Amino acid sequence: AETDASELLRGLNPQQHEAVVHSGSPLLVVAGAGSGKTKVLTHRIAYALATGRARADQIIAITFTNKAAAEMRERVRALVGPQAGRMWVSTFHSACVRILRREYRDVPIRSTFSVYDMQDAQRLMALTCKRMNLDPKQFNPKMFSRRVSDFKNELITPSQALAQARTDIEKTIAEAYRLYNEALQQAHAMDFDDLIMRTVQLLQNNPQVARTYRRRFRHVLVDEYQDTNHAQYMLVRALVGDEDDDAGVAPAELTVVGDSDQSIYAFRGATIRNIEEFEKDYPDAHTVVLEQNYRSTQNILSAANAVIAANSGRRAKRLWTDSGDGAKVVGYAADSEHDEARFIAREIDALTDSGVNPGDVAIFYRTNAQSRALEEIFIRTGLPYRVVGGTRFYERKEIKDALAYLRAIANPDDSVSIRRIFNTPRRGLGDKAEATLAAYAHDRGISFGSAIAAAVEGEIPGLAARTLNALRDFYATLTEVRDFAEDATPAEILDAILDRSGYVATLRASDDPQDETRVENLAELHAVAAEFLETQPEGDLGDFLERVALVADSDSIPGDEAGQITLMTVHTAKGLEFPVVFASGMEDGTFPHARSIDDATQLAEERRLAYVALTRARERLYVTRAAVRSAWGMPQDLPPSRFLTAIPDDVLDWRREVAGNEALRASSTSRSPLSFGSGYTPKASAVRTVQRAGVQRSAEKDEAAIPALAAGDRVLHDSYGLGTVLEVTGQGRRAVANVDFGDGAVKKLMLRYAPLTKL
Ligand code: ATP
Ligand code: MG
Repeated sequence: AETDASELLRGLNPQQHEAVVHSGSPLLVVAGAGSGKTKVLTHRIAYALATGRARADQIIAITFTNKAAAEMRERVRALVGPQAGRMWVSTFHSACVRILRREYRDVPIRSTFSVYDMQDAQRLMALTCKRMNLDPKQFNPKMFSRRVSDFKNELITPSQALAQARTDIEKTIAEAYRLYNEALQQAHAMDFDDLIMRTVQLLQNNPQVARTYRRRFRHVLVDEYQDTNHAQYMLVRALVGDEDDDAGVAPAELTVVGDSDQSIYAFRGATIRNIEEFEKDYPDAHTVVLEQNYRSTQNILSAANAVIAANSGRRAKRLWTDSGDGAKVVGYAADSEHDEARFIAREIDALTDSGVNPGDVAIFYRTNAQSRALEEIFIRTGLPYRVVGGTRFYERKEIKDALAYLRAIANPDDSVSIRRIFNTPRRGLGDKAEATLAAYAHDRGISFGSAIAAAVEGEIPGLAARTLNALRDFYATLTEVRDFAEDATPAEILDAILDRSGYVATLRASDDPQDETRVENLAELHAVAAEFLETQPEGDLGDFLERVALVADSDSIPGDEAGQITLMTVHTAKGLEFPVVFASGMEDGTFPHARSIDDATQLAEERRLAYVALTRARERLYVTRAAVRSAWGMPQDLPPSRFLTAIPDDVLDWRREVAGNEALRASSTSRSPLSFGSGYTPKASAVRTVQRAGVQRSAEKDEAAIPALAAGDRVLHDSYGLGTVLEVTGQGRRAVANVDFGDGAVKKLMLRYAPLTKL
């Protein structure tokens, strides 16, 4: 249904009206959350169509996430009807793929080029480093990958990178960049960053191509402009063109909207410079500031305003609303992450009883691993949910890998599990070795695991010496941990196999932030195993795997989207809104993330992230925290997030202000519960720091490095922190220690593999 022009202006406030009808020069709309930036953008498109200023095919609108693009497409279609199909409404990346596929001859590349995702790109970089004979211990391929990504986001070519390299390592990286790009070219492939960079180069170097697109796109609109990086910024410039370039076309009408308080992608090279200097970049630009918020109630806004106010150097803006105070923000201090999840589930239950649709509810957390405690309780209580922008816990690769290891320990004939982990982490056992063993197993009618044993016994001819060595080590890993498993708990077995196989060490040695997330998820799996023992003290590994299989299975029951609670990280929530929002895990060390706490710049970004989280809520906002959260089975005391304590008392309704365990502790040490609000607990940060220091450690120690321990020794473990040795059994390579890490956490550790230092 087409809407007429005056209809499109109805209900807009004067500033929004001004922004929608403005024409003739570049337009910048800066405004706080929920003030209608995206609405202005979509109405501006519709208005240009309705007034005949533009045809649908002359419009390109760009945003950041696929979800945001889909939503924008929908909003526009609702306003302008089927002609919406002729505009480009997409993410930066998909717009670029479209251009590159059409103009492949001038790129030049094959029209059927592949797009490499981050994993593909990292694999290619690892191969490149190998070709350069670089020692992966000294030169981390993932770090190289990230550096190349930074270069591409800055539009720096390999030769420019080489020219500006000062140190040897910089020169090595620049050389790797060149070879990596050559390899991409040979594979007729582009990585994600190439999509933008190559499009910019295409438009800059081919005036006739640039002219085609400038003639076509007379209206360029960009949402979330605060999150553009340099390459994206240049892409916009190239599409718009300027007066005196040689394209012979007047510049397109450019509209950008954004909010520097919501810039949350600095780690991908985003710079708010682009929004702050828009008026410099486009001297005749017109700026509109929006201040009225239409999304949230005053109480929610006051909470969000108070949180962001602590960031320095921002253009102060005050958002206001005339939608009334609304309900107060509800606060809850839980004893643990499970108590927090139970509170949230109970609350949602009550809300749905009073008529709220589960689809109106969203729960945000800082990191993906936090979804697990929530998912578990939702599964148990039958609340429908979905995890957006992330994979459900038990479908995650690292969780499946770890469970495959456990199954391989429990069942030496579990061929599927053993083959899954055969070369994970990479141990030099390629497809060929796997095929040889599989064929041998098939011929003899034995399991894949038995074929490995046969190979180790020298019964399979034709295996290269290197392969045989790798097989011996893999076999030893499984048999040793099987031995250990005879009288160890599932959690201890999990730790042992993750250490012995080098799985965690490989992830820790990586610079890829995704791998850091994977380590966090494995810590969560450890927590699952530890909890299992609480509910079933006699349970063995087999019982544990059975229980997990049940949960993991019910996990995959599909439901209808509209009626489901949405679980997502704050990053994926950008630009969206929900009637009811739970901001969970509001603890210093969780949100703000532990790694950002000591760095003012990163802390400011965390604060913007918190602002994004709170401003998604329309009617009801909950802020919850857990006094104790476990990682690697180590409960950590976490103080309330500084973002939580920034919320003024008069808008906050505490359901429970001090957790039960905090009240206890406070009374036994006669400490005021308020003292939990001060600073970050040294224990937690020490643990994190040590984890990082342990990064280069290889999975297995040689004999000399196995610490000689005796009862009473103090030790430092990468994950558990400080502990006291209670007992040591076995000798040398078979030594196992029971270590008390405090708070009742006694761990059984294989000294040969445990990341442990004697103090
Ligand atoms: P964010 O910064 O989170 O991206 P935004 O500035 O893009 O937010 P929108 O999503 O466009 O804000 O609008 C927020 C909500 O306010 C939407 O539900 C929108 O429909 C509503 N809204 C915006 N302007 C008006 C208005 N003039 N009258 C009524 N509702 C409005
Ligand atoms: Mg928006």
